[in-house]
Order: sequence, then structure tokens, then C-alpha cells
Amino acid sequence: MISITEIQKIFKGKISLNEPLARFTTFRIGGMADYYVEPLDAQDVLNIVNYASKQEIPVYTMGNGSNVLISDEGIRGIVINLEEGFHYLRNDDGVIFSGAGVKLAKLVDFCIQHRYGGVEMLAGIPATVGGALVMNAGCYGGETADYVTEVTVVKNGELKVLKKAECDFGYRRSNLRGTVVLEAKFKLPEGDRKELSNRRKELLMKRNESQPVEIPNAGCIFKNPKNNKAAILIEQCGLKGQTFGDAMVSQKHANFIVNVNNASASDVVELIKIIRKTVKEKAGVELELEVKPIGFGEHEI
Ligand SMILES: Cc1cc2nc3c(=O)[nH]c(=O)nc-3n(C[C@H](O)[C@H](O)[C@H](O)COP(=O)(O)OP(=O)(O)OC[C@H]3O[C@@H](n4cnc5c(N)ncnc54)[C@H](O)[C@@H]3O)c2cc1C
Repeated sequence: MISITEIQKIFKGKISLNEPLARFTTFRIGGMADYYVEPLDAQDVLNIVNYASKQEIPVYTMGNGSNVLISDEGIRGIVINLEEGFHYLRNDDGVIFSGAGVKLAKLVDFCIQHRYGGVEMLAGIPATVGGALVMNAGCYGGETADYVTEVTVVKNGELKVLKKAECDFGYRRSNLRGTVVLEAKFKLPEGDRKELSNRRKELLMKRNESQPVEIPNAGCIFKNPKNNKAAILIEQCGLKGQTFGDAMVSQKHANFIVNVNNASASDVVELIKIIRKTVKEKAGVELELEVKPIGFGEHEI
């Protein structure tokens, strides 16, 4: 059991109890977290992680909640959010330091202002730098990890600086899951401000045309199978517009599930099951989840 007075002795940031998480997710879905904490610095993170470990309380780190499906029952444990304490950006002689709580759009803007390119394609991904590193988010030929040189994390209760090679970045993956990512260092190629801005604008327009950005969603639900596209398979199986409760396969992009009104996490889970079963039966392909289910305990999705 957590003692708030005990935590307050070692933690400077804000602590909320029974915090509804739906509003912190782009899906607008999810129950409450027992504890929602907003550390102000690395020491706060170390203290809360080590306290939780001693008390055997699970800890989850949430970024912008743009690739998670949180259960209707919510999360038993502590949810850490870094946007309050880790929203800094710094250009140190051509090396960009970004706090993990910075939104990608802000990172891209900062880089363009300082005449650095290589990340402009990421501007439309509604992620924090921390979440984007863990997922190695990417689009239009670029990935978050491309120009990263080092990542600072809390791992096994200690502050560690990991070289890029130690993070094992791959397609929508890294080995940073389970750590708390605090900061990243980028070394980016120089570019022309106007050209970079134009490319960002062009790609944002392209994204808005192809994704249901106006309806709550959690990005791509499934990873693309080898040599195939999940969206194409789902569309070919006739599933565009398929619903379960208030969850619907987007008409605009079949790898997105949209929350058309007040969908529950269990609506989404049932729709995921329908999609997987149909694609397996009709196309012979097993779809693997890209979205991260949280708070479902032992129950498989
Ligand atoms: C409209 C829309 C468009 C999208 N387009 C794309 C796209 O083009 N390409 C793409 O790759 N993705 C896309 N996504 C998915 C999503 O934005 C990415 O997966 C992103 O990396 C998630 O970042 P986040 O900060 O929201 O993390 P969250 O969704 O909050 O978390 C994702 C995972 O990372 C972990 N995590 C988050 N922050 C930290 C941290 N600081 N330390 C340790 N673990 C952490 C969480 O525990 C969770 O396991 C899109 C999503 C939406 C809603």
C-alpha cells in the first residue's frame, strides 16, 4: 500500500489519486490510474521508481497516450507522466538535447528554427519524444532513432546513459520498454529553414488526407506484416466501417480504429478480435498489435 505522506517526503512533483486516464489518451478511452505522478526531475523519477519497486507496485510510463489502449478497469499502480518536468529543448553546439516529455511537433519546430533537418517528417506524429523513442515511431522514410546518439533512462532503479547501439532500435520497437526514458541527444544534418518548413507542411497535408485525424484514435492498431500492409489486408477483407459498439474501423485508413462516440476499451478489444479472425481466415495472415494494451492483466487481447 502507498502512503502519500511517505511519498511526499521523497517526491517534489504532483501526485493525483484515482486519476481518469481517458483524457490523457488520443483514443479518449481508459479507466482510472490508482496514482498519477508528474516528476519534476530525474531524482523524482529515481525516488518514485525505487519506492514502487520496494513496495512491489507496478509502474507505467505514459507519453502522449497516442499508441495505448487502456482497459476500462484502468491501471492498478503508478502512472508516470514526464510532460511537466521534462519539456526542455537545448541546442548545445549542434547537439540537440530534448526532454522525454517534449512533443515531436515541438522538437521538429525547434530543429527547423536552428536549421537542422532529418526529423521534419515526424511533425504529425502526436507523440512525446519518450514514447516515440520507445516505439521508434516513424513515417515517410524516417524514424525517431535515425539521428539519436544517446538516450538517458532510469533502468533497474539507476540513471543510465545508453548509446544508440544499446537501445536495439528496430521497426516500431526498441529495448527501452520497461525503462523510464528521460532525455535524448540528437545529432542532425544541417538544412535550409524554408525547405525544411515546406517539407513539413507538405507531409502534414498528406497525413491529414490519409488518416482520420479528426476522430479520436490510437494510430495504427497493427504492425505491418512482412512485405505487406495491415491497412490493405483489412480493407481487402471488407472490414472498413465494421463496428463493435462505438468502435469502428476507419473508413479513411483501415489500420485505424476510431472512437465514434463513447467507445469502451472492451468495444475496441472485440473489434480487434473480429479483425484478426477475419484477416486470418480470409488472407491467412496473423496480425500483430502495434498499439500497447495496458491494464488488461492476464487477459490476452
Ligand atoms: C493520429 C495518429 C497518427 C499516428 N501516426 C503515427 C505514425 O505515422 N508513425 C508511428 O510510428 N506512429 C504513429 N502513431 C502512433 C504513436 O503516435 C506512436 O507510437 C508514438 O511513438 C507514441 O508516443 P506517445 O508519447 O504517445 O506514447 P504512449 O502512447 O503514451 O506510449 C507508448 C508506449 O511507450 C511507453 N512510453 C511512453 N513514454 C515513455 C517514456 N518516457 N519512457 C518509457 N516508456 C514510455 C508507454 O509505456 C507505452 O508502452 C500515431 C498515432 C495517432 C493517434
